[in-house]
Parts: sequence; structure tokens; C-alpha cells
Amino acid sequence: MGALAVLTAAGSGSRLGANLPKALVEVAGTPIVVRAAQGLAEAGCSGIVVTAPAQALSEFRALLTPHIPGYPEVKVIVVPGGVSRQASVAAGIAALTEVSAKESVAEDTVGGERRVVLVHDAARCLTPAEMIKRVITAVESGLNAVIPALPLSDTLKKVGASYDLSSGDGDSFSVQEVVDTVDRTSLAAVQTPQGFTLETLRQAHDYGTERAGDEAVSATDDAALVEALGKKVHVVLGDARAMKVTTPFDVQVAEIFCAQEE
Ligand code: C5P
Repeated sequence: MGALAVLTAAGSGSRLGANLPKALVEVAGTPIVVRAAQGLAEAGCSGIVVTAPAQALSEFRALLTPHIPGYPEVKVIVVPGGVSRQASVAAGIAALTEVSAKESVAEDTVGGERRVVLVHDAARCLTPAEMIKRVITAVESGLNAVIPALPLSDTLKKVGASYDLSSGDGDSFSVQEVVDTVDRTSLAAVQTPQGFTLETLRQAHDYGTERAGDEAVSATDDAALVEALGKKVHVVLGDARAMKVTTPFDVQVAEIFCAQEE
């Protein structure tokens, strides 16, 4: 039984500059959302629900449904996202039965095996399959919520009040006061896909449902909802290639990486 996945791609803001939803921007000739879905398929996912901006459903469906290039065995559907990432994931969870095999109907345990659901950001379109498999295996082996993360290499400071300084040529730039140096040894930078048992993910979203309608208080990752529920979350090693491709600079880095892989 393959894992199921919710692939979030409903972000409309375009820090990438292109006049397109972010997930349709191409990296080395392939749209970001297609690359991300192919990574999930490569890692063994059998069904994927993609959340897309409501006004661009037809473009997303043309690229992804009923199957993504190279993976005719993986069922993919596209549903409209919500006002926050959390709301988009909730919409994806509600549609999971449509991509699960008929006999399993997205139950939590199928034939004694745990049903694993991944939640992945399309922007992390170069995530290697071996990292995704680590997350799936950790959930299959008995953990309820598993997230990939990397140790931090930069020194971290907590900053406070900010001031504007004039640069002398008419421009100004901002300066912030350092309040404290944070001990980085107990911190980790979290990536996706995050993996859950179906039951844990559903419970966490049900518990946090009131936050979903307001971007300001909504959860920026699904593990935070599991933590709020009081359940344990575990970390496995992430991968630098699971970087978020959100700026034109990131696209350039991703293109260089793809060129080296070919
Ligand atoms: O904006 P941010 O980078 O945090 O978005 C993370 C992921 O969530 C992206 O893949 C984006 O497309 C998705 N998203 C979504 N629905 C929203 C907002 C963001 O699916 N309403």
C-alpha cells in the first residue's frame, strides 16, 4: 500500500515575479508543482491531492491529472485551496478518499498496515525521494508524526526594535537591536514532506480547525497542530535539496542543481 499525499500549491503570492501562480513557474523546463509531485511518486506515493489557487484549477489539472508525466500508476486530483496553508491542507485531507484505492477508502489501517499521509509544499520541488522515503518508513514503523529537519549552521540572534538610518545618497536602510544570542544546538530548521498516520493528521486538523480561516493565527506546518493536540512529533534528517524555491534567486540555484544532475 503506497502512502497518500497532500501537495500544497495554492499560494498565490508571486515573489517569483512571473505573472503566474508560484507553483506553475518552471525549473529547467518543468513546472515546480509537477517536479514536486514526481518526487512524491518516485518515493512510492500511490495517490496525491494537489491544492491549487481556485482561479487556476484548469491549468493545474491540465498538467497533473489524471496522472503526472512518467507515473501512470499514481492517481492525482486537484482541489481548490483555502485562505491559509492550513485551510488548503484541510481541503486536501477531505479529498483523500478520491485518490486512495477503492478497497482501502483512506481508512487509518488497511490490512494491518498503517496508512501514511504526507503533507508536502510544492515549493520544495527538488526534495530527493530517499528523504521522502525516510519520513514514510518512520511513520510505518510506529511513529505518529514525523518531520524532516536540518541542524542550523548560522548563529542565531533574537532582535528587537528597528531604526531607519540614512545611507547618505537619499536612501535609508533599517537597523535592528540585538536582544540575545539563541542557543542553536536545540533548534532545527524544518522541511516537508511531513508524515502522519491518517488518524493523527485528521485529529490535529479537527482540533485546530478554528485557526484555519485566519492567516495570522493559522499553523504554518501540520506538526504544530499535532503538538497543540499534545501528541509527540519526531524529527528525521532532512536534505539541503528540500529547499523552498520561492525567489528568483532560488530558481537560479535550482536550475544549476538540475543542470548538474543531468
Ligand atoms: O507561503 P508559504 O511559502 O508558507 O506556502 C507554503 C506552501 O503552502 C506553498 O506550497 C503554497 O503553495 C501553499 N499554500 C497553500 N494555500 C495557501 C497558502 C499557501 O496551499 N492559502
